[in-house]
Amino acid sequence: MSILTMARALTDREHVYDFMTPKVNPLLTVGHGYLLYLEGLTVSFDGFKAINDLNLYIKEGELRCIIGPNGAGKTTMMDIITGKTRPDSGSAWFGQNIDLLQLDEPQIAQAGIGRKFQKPTVFESQSVFHNLELAMAGAKTVFSTLMAKLSASDIDYIDYVLKQIGLEAQRFLPAGALSHGQKQWLEIGMLLMQNPKLLLVDEPVAGMTHQEMDRTAELLTSLAGERTIILVEHDMDFVRSIAKDVTVLHQGSVLAEGTMAEVQSNRKVVEVYLGEEAC
Ligand code: ADP
Ligand code: MG
Repeated sequence: MSILTMARALTDREHVYDFMTPKVNPLLTVGHGYLLYLEGLTVSFDGFKAINDLNLYIKEGELRCIIGPNGAGKTTMMDIITGKTRPDSGSAWFGQNIDLLQLDEPQIAQAGIGRKFQKPTVFESQSVFHNLELAMAGAKTVFSTLMAKLSASDIDYIDYVLKQIGLEAQRFLPAGALSHGQKQWLEIGMLLMQNPKLLLVDEPVAGMTHQEMDRTAELLTSLAGERTIILVEHDMDFVRSIAKDVTVLHQGSVLAEGTMAEVQSNRKVVEVYLGEEAC
């Protein structure tokens, strides 16, 4: 195969995905039926258990909201899923046969887990379209640098993502000209360019207007099904507007799980949130 043929093959996203999927040991296959399976996770920082025997099970296509007071372990949980922090004990499976605890951060990203941090990190001087293009290139190998032009299917995919994130009309604008909310959507779009199966989103609506919050709720709801989404959120009105299953974390473990109405009327949850200004 010539380098050019290889480069062409690599511009096909599915192909790239196969190429980059970490080798897994079929003997490890576990029959749990979840996309994300966290069990018995514990992490200590200087003797303090930030995560304490945490169990969390997420099905494919779910949009799960994770709430909990400051210090509950929400970010640490995300850090474990993405390989930034190693647990002291427990297991973490992505699908039936990817043992996340055996992979490093880049391998976990390549396996199909994307993470959006709170602060948008778009390239301000580049157009919205080019930001998406660059995010797609980031998922490819060095061979892709040989390709001067985007293929028709690449352009179709960028158009598809532009439509999903509602920024079709802004495609030629520099990202720096977007509103705060639009930048957050662009960054979600940049993650989508890497075609993740599981998307971890940390407090996306901080600093957004009400209108932008509504639009973000719509966007995340529309992505669920096609993707699986874990949303960590402090804003209760926003979580209510999404109206999906909610998990409450407290002191590194699951305190309650259910609909927003169920967890809100749970006595233990009310006690934990009492005096929590943000909620
Ligand atoms: P949340 O995101 O729910 O607010 P975190 O996961 O950030 O909570 O933190 C959980 C607890 O672990 C907090 O008490 C925090 O101070 C502690 N913690 C988190 N990361 C570290 C670290 N790298 N070193 C020491 N303590 C940490
Ligand atoms: Mg946090």
